[in-house]
Amino acid sequence: MAWRSSGASNEALIENLARNGLITQPRVKQAMLGVDRAHYAPHAPYQDSPQTIGHAATISAPHMHASACESLLPYLKPGARVLDVGSGSGYLTHVLAELVKPGGRVVGVEHIQPLVDIGIANTRKSAEGRELMDDGGIRYVKADGRLGWPEDAPYDAIHVGAAAAGFHQPLIDQLKVPGRLFMPVEENYMQHIYVIDKREDGSVTRKKDMGVQYVPLTDAPKG
Ligand code: SAH
Repeated sequence: MAWRSSGASNEALIENLARNGLITQPRVKQAMLGVDRAHYAPHAPYQDSPQTIGHAATISAPHMHASACESLLPYLKPGARVLDVGSGSGYLTHVLAELVKPGGRVVGVEHIQPLVDIGIANTRKSAEGRELMDDGGIRYVKADGRLGWPEDAPYDAIHVGAAAAGFHQPLIDQLKVPGRLFMPVEENYMQHIYVIDKREDGSVTRKKDMGVQYVPLTDAPKG
């Protein structure tokens, strides 16, 4: 799965992901076509694999970004509020912002300042990204994402881009009713995606999904 969707251009990569059934929703395809991964991945941006971006972070593989968008899509309506924990390169933050345009807002939370700066700089490489940054459609903040970001809560959708050691209650608390949280969780040295829904009646359900490999959601490095 990791390699066969790779392409020679952003368009080829996204078309191959769609052809291989990794993108099924037209709105997700449209949003991913609209964000050039080369602005976010310094090496081999059109390869369907994770790439290192420094500071012990990686930009996730395109098929994982696609999977997160497809899962969260019912909650990504124009005007929606979204939280992207561990925003790293800023790629998914930007794709999510395209999906909630117009009037939406995505807050990217990152605990390493140089990565906050990289996310901002990457997003500002395109006219669409600059517009989103300037009109408040995207906001990057430095914080411990395990605590969410109460200032802009509640959120229709929350994405976590690093493997959590547990189901952080502040993230569930900051979900709207209804709302959806997509997060990798580490249990017994294995990681799985969990999709956590807060339903209309306020009840919370958890669905365990595919096995994955993400960098861990941790304390910020010292210094
Ligand atoms: N979605 C990003 C993933 C980056 S890797 C992308 O595709 O580019 C995971 C990121 O989570 C790293 O940038 C790391 O610095 C960040 N991270 C880890 N623990 C964190 C925490 N407690 N709070 C906020 N960010 C965290």
